Amino acid sequence: YEVADYRRVRADLASGQQAWVYIDARSHNPLLDPRQESTTMNPNDLNSTSPWNLAERAHGMNPSAIREILKVTERPGILNFAGGLPSPETFPVDAMRAACDAVLGGPAARPSLQYASSEGLPELRQWVANEMAKQGAQVSPDQVLITTGSQQGLDLIAKVLLDKDSPLLVESPTYLGALQAFMPMQPKVVSIASDSGGLSLPVLREQLSKAEQSGQRPRFIYLLPNFQNPTGRTMDEQRRNDVIAVCREFGLPIVEDNPYGELWFDAPPPAPLLSRWPEGVLYLGSFSKILAPGLRLGYVIAPPALYPKLLQAKQAADLHTPGFNQRVVAEVIKDGFLDTHVPTIRARYHAQRDAMLAALARELGPTGAEWTQPVGGMFVWVRLPEGVNAQALLPKAVDAGMAFVPGAPFYADHADPRTLRLSFVTSTPEQIDRGIAALAQVIRQATGG
Ligand code: PMP
Repeated sequence: YEVADYRRVRADLASGQQAWVYIDARSHNPLLDPRQESTTMNPNDLNSTSPWNLAERAHGMNPSAIREILKVTERPGILNFAGGLPSPETFPVDAMRAACDAVLGGPAARPSLQYASSEGLPELRQWVANEMAKQGAQVSPDQVLITTGSQQGLDLIAKVLLDKDSPLLVESPTYLGALQAFMPMQPKVVSIASDSGGLSLPVLREQLSKAEQSGQRPRFIYLLPNFQNPTGRTMDEQRRNDVIAVCREFGLPIVEDNPYGELWFDAPPPAPLLSRWPEGVLYLGSFSKILAPGLRLGYVIAPPALYPKLLQAKQAADLHTPGFNQRVVAEVIKDGFLDTHVPTIRARYHAQRDAMLAALARELGPTGAEWTQPVGGMFVWVRLPEGVNAQALLPKAVDAGMAFVPGAPFYADHADPRTLRLSFVTSTPEQIDRGIAALAQVIRQATGG
């Protein structure tokens, strides 16, 4: 099928047949495709005899384009750089087991299995406040809301701050999961171009001036200052100060997402935006990349004025974050475990980053491709040579034994079809060498070189 053939897709689905739909992600983001109704795979939606009617906002929900792509890349034996997963080698299994025993063998056993407060475990909220103080941000534990992953924080923020047609600013490209959380609220997303230092200030200023003239101030801007997903870029001190100055001038609040900040290689990143404008920044943190994502533990730090609304949204969503997980993590980290654990993750990812950058220079350098130089985190962002389309290259790369994620789904609009994301954290240096050599080979074939 082509997308334009959706009437046939609809007819086949209604008659119970399976359909394969090809969505051209080169020129647009499927999440925002105005034709998405036509490409929705939910048979309920397509069957006129169904008693169910979808809410308008459900049309803004789509399967994660990345998860769909990952299915294609998960062939046995493939060298996979497509995932966004932390390395399972870093999960502290023994410490977790000991903490589970301690919780279940002590006075917290029954409370850990009981319903708990929506705000989160006091020890964890205090720990978050202490950590933020080390980074120069003075926050009270009362401002900390423990969430079921920071992804839930994004969802709660969307519910509390976005109406239909609310203007909303994001970086271009940005974290796809944030777009997924925001889109059901049907905001008007405007993406702000970024350069090698992160968000482009002239473009931000221009957008905000335009917005001011039309009386449409954006609800917030969503930013990832540290080792961004997907580009790996970091905003330096100057850029952070400049962003804050412009946002303050125009009264534009910031949602700062920082799941990767602890994964620095040579030096910690500059202080968070939160420390520079406490009342104007909502901050998201996570235990996923420093302990384990399966725990689903994250947090939101909210200005006091906003906290009660986020708490109410949290209560409606899931009453509270699993209390058992919170107690186990509080037990694991209580005596400074992370002070020794996180450096082992940094060292591992650092070596993998080095291997990836060396392989890229050796293999991709001659092809004319360009890539970012991440100083932390998990990702490198590649721009293929002129005329090479990442989406079209993917099946050839998979045939050659390696997989990446095309960049298009990370753009809210105007995708650059030459971009792709590589994760370096789940492969050994030797696998990285072989995988990048395979990538170079298919690029050379595509460019006739
Ligand atoms: N924000 C960003 C930028 C991410 O990359 C991720 C996970 N990939 C999340 C938020 C969500 O993380 P979690 O829910 O596991 O805390």
